[in-house]
Amino acid sequence: MDLQLKNKIAFVSGSTAGIGFAIAQSLLQEGTEVIINGRTQDGVGKAVEELKALVAGAKVSGIPADFSKADDVKHLIDQLPDIDILINNAGIFEPKAFEDIPDEDWFRFFEVNVLSGVRLSRHFLPKMLKKNWGRIIFISSESAVFIPDEMIHYGMTKTAQLAISRGLAELTQGTEVTVNAILPGPTKSKGVGGFIEDLAKSGNVSTDKVEEDFFKNMRPTSLLQRFATVDEVAHTVTYYVSPLASATNGASIRVEGGLIRSIL
Ligand code: NAD
Repeated sequence: MDLQLKNKIAFVSGSTAGIGFAIAQSLLQEGTEVIINGRTQDGVGKAVEELKALVAGAKVSGIPADFSKADDVKHLIDQLPDIDILINNAGIFEPKAFEDIPDEDWFRFFEVNVLSGVRLSRHFLPKMLKKNWGRIIFISSESAVFIPDEMIHYGMTKTAQLAISRGLAELTQGTEVTVNAILPGPTKSKGVGGFIEDLAKSGNVSTDKVEEDFFKNMRPTSLLQRFATVDEVAHTVTYYVSPLASATNGASIRVEGGLIRSIL
């Protein structure tokens, strides 16, 4: 299938590692020009070189910006060209008991996970509507639906993304612009991989055992019963930003291994 993504330009926030990096790689493989992002110049430079080595002829560049800093985001937006595809992927998570989450963490999670996408969409959606083509994707989570009791602040941000994504889609009525949310389930990204390795070390067990126990005890309804790979998420995103996916708009698309037990 030709996904018709060759003459498009995409920006992927938080893409020096994990799901964002895999999305950048997948889009580059389709011939899309991709601008990646991470917090530091060094990290962005390394990821650009890595992507060039992975994808022959990759049209990739990068701009550093920390989404917890409004000035960084303003500077990023000033530097970005007109883009066709916006992937709001940057996001942070941290398990913490509800009573231990201070105001500062609630604000920081909101700023990095929610306002990042708001600020970028506020700039790019009007431009996409004007040229009558564009794709905006919010990388939300199954945690938007199953709020994890060990990180309620994170769940709050992921639900908020669904509200914003659906609201923005309403503004695209009658155009060729779409706004959708993707809900990955537990996915073995760099961040999650490190978390599993730490758990394995502290419990003196293998990472396979940690994974098996995690799904048995924490995600018993998962049909997949393993972590998804970052590529499984990235390939889904790549399809939904394609011109071929023009009839999907305002949707919450699941890549969560079937753990949400509702039909719709
Ligand atoms: P990760 O920790 O592996 O990678 C995060 C990326 O975001 C890195 O490139 C990092 O540099 C960047 N980043 C972090 N903080 C940033 C900031 N303040 N400003 C700019 N960039 C920043 O993460 P991941 O697991 O690949 O998660 C990516 C997205 O997918 C997040 O929005 C996350 O909520 C969502 N998600 C992940 C999972 C999972 O299990 N991995 C499940 C559902 C949803």
